Amino acid sequence: MILPMYILGQPVLRKQAEEITPDYPNLQELISNMYETMKKAEGVGLAAPQIGLPIKLVVIDLDVVSDDMPEYKGFLHAFINPSIIETSEETCLMEEGCLSVPGVHESVKRPKRIHVKYLDENLTEHDEWVDGFLARVMQHEFDHLEGKLFIDRLSAFRKQMLKSKLLAMTKGKYNCSYKTKANR
Ligand code: ZN
Repeated sequence: MILPMYILGQPVLRKQAEEITPDYPNLQELISNMYETMKKAEGVGLAAPQIGLPIKLVVIDLDVVSDDMPEYKGFLHAFINPSIIETSEETCLMEEGCLSVPGVHESVKRPKRIHVKYLDENLTEHDEWVDGFLARVMQHEFDHLEGKLFIDRLSAFRKQMLKSKLLAMTKGKYNCSYKTKANR
């Protein structure tokens, strides 16, 4: 089932998400709905707050970039209760966009490598260092679980440049091809 996307201005995007328990009702169904919603919107990642649920659940699909990055062929996973334990001092700039902030793409500086802990879709525990594009997508998505968006990480100058566009977005003025939860 395709779920409506919550767009900038929806309070749930600014909430601290709660940890979920393994007996969370219909977890597998929720994960599968999130996969479907992400694919339909052509995203590489989707965090539960973006579909209105303030819980620590993220899905990531990197198969869509595997033509350019073959190491991600078939990569489709869920990340439950993820946490970033440490990060590399080395940073890199990469352009990001967000399904909850349609039509905005900006370069964001983030650590290059991250040490993460999470449960996967089979509730298997992972504790690993991640780098490359996956590390980037994870950081963007895990930010959502802290009520943070990539636009918060831009320079004061870029924020000022985007101000009116973002304000209009919170009032429902935006264009995107996927189903959204109407703002206001
Ligand atoms: Zn996002």
